[in-house]
Amino acid sequence: IELIEEGLVKIAFPKFDKVSSKSPVFYNPKMEFNRDISVLVLQVFQKHLNQESFNIADLFSGSGIRGIRYKKEINGAKDIFLNDINPLAIEWAKFNTLENNVDLEFSQKDANIFLRENRGLFDVIDIDPFGTPSFFLDSAAYAIKKNGILCVTATDTSALCGTYKEPSIRKYNALSYKSEYCHENGIRILAGFCALTLAKYKKYIEIKFSHSSEHYMRLYFLVKKASKATDDSLKKNIGHISHCPQCLYRVTSVGLTSPVEELCPICGEKMKMAGPLWIGKLGEREFIEDMISEIDNKSLNTEKQILKLLNISLDEVDAPTTFYDIHKISKNLKISAPKQDKVIEAIKDKGYISVGTHFNLLGIKTDIDINGLKEIVKNL
Ligand code: SAM
Repeated sequence: IELIEEGLVKIAFPKFDKVSSKSPVFYNPKMEFNRDISVLVLQVFQKHLNQESFNIADLFSGSGIRGIRYKKEINGAKDIFLNDINPLAIEWAKFNTLENNVDLEFSQKDANIFLRENRGLFDVIDIDPFGTPSFFLDSAAYAIKKNGILCVTATDTSALCGTYKEPSIRKYNALSYKSEYCHENGIRILAGFCALTLAKYKKYIEIKFSHSSEHYMRLYFLVKKASKATDDSLKKNIGHISHCPQCLYRVTSVGLTSPVEELCPICGEKMKMAGPLWIGKLGEREFIEDMISEIDNKSLNTEKQILKLLNISLDEVDAPTTFYDIHKISKNLKISAPKQDKVIEAIKDKGYISVGTHFNLLGIKTDIDINGLKEIVKNL
């Protein structure tokens, strides 16, 4: 037996050699950061909700650590439902619940069946599966309450980032491509797929916070309901991003129908295209600021790391889509790379937006075009 402490809880599960989907009961210590952020997001969500308490479905509960933490660490967390298809996981989740002196509900079903049977019960649905969440989004869209929040993890980053094309087409009905900003495109493909799936139920999304960290991507979005607003949201937020692998030019276009495959207007090379994907905001300034204020009220082991992420996220939340990698541009120009902060300042001096990004610590989000940026990089 393994015993661990995380946040305000103590959790036990059968010992295993290596974190894997084959472990008898799944637990990944590296996801403490993800769980800490989830606690913070849901606490801020509770403050924004016009109700005292809310219900949470921890759809893939594993050892129970997530749901038990939610109950212990979030004011207003009322009924928490732990669901997992693995009977051994539910046995240990029950044991851990007793050990932590909390009272939760249990279910041992396929996640889709559990959601279909419990429509309208949950203010929060946490989707933390192995690999892709795509199989579960339809049921989550059906089951989630109006003004509820969906928390979605994807660990199939190679599909979302375009290592191979086919998996992204199969799972997300979207084209992906590999580039220096493929993690951003990946999270946009995931968000676009969520928005299009929810739209079937006349529901639309407002992304409160999102991040790509280590081997996974995580999205937190509010779900609202109204057919006209859903149409408007899709019209504004779904589009495509095209990229020239030769000169690094890229362009974002709005609309569900893909633009005709174009040649790069700068160098004439054939462009690559990703989409349909979410071209809207990946977070909300006020929500992130509230997360930063709330962090002092929580006792989170990964606080420093979270603050670093939240501060970069604040910088980039209103910046344009995609980012440039200074090393990639320097290689393209066959020169050695200048320092990132110098480039950021030089772009700002010319009157453009210029900020860093959590997707890549050498990345810059800016509205200057690629030729203007290359000039700056050359002259530094
Ligand atoms: N949320 C957990 C945490 O933070 O530690 C980890 C969850 S783990 C990544 C995925 C879990 O989903 C496993 O415990 C597995 O047994 C369960 N699972 C896999 N397929 C499922 C399905 N179709 N329905 C419900 N649970 C499923």
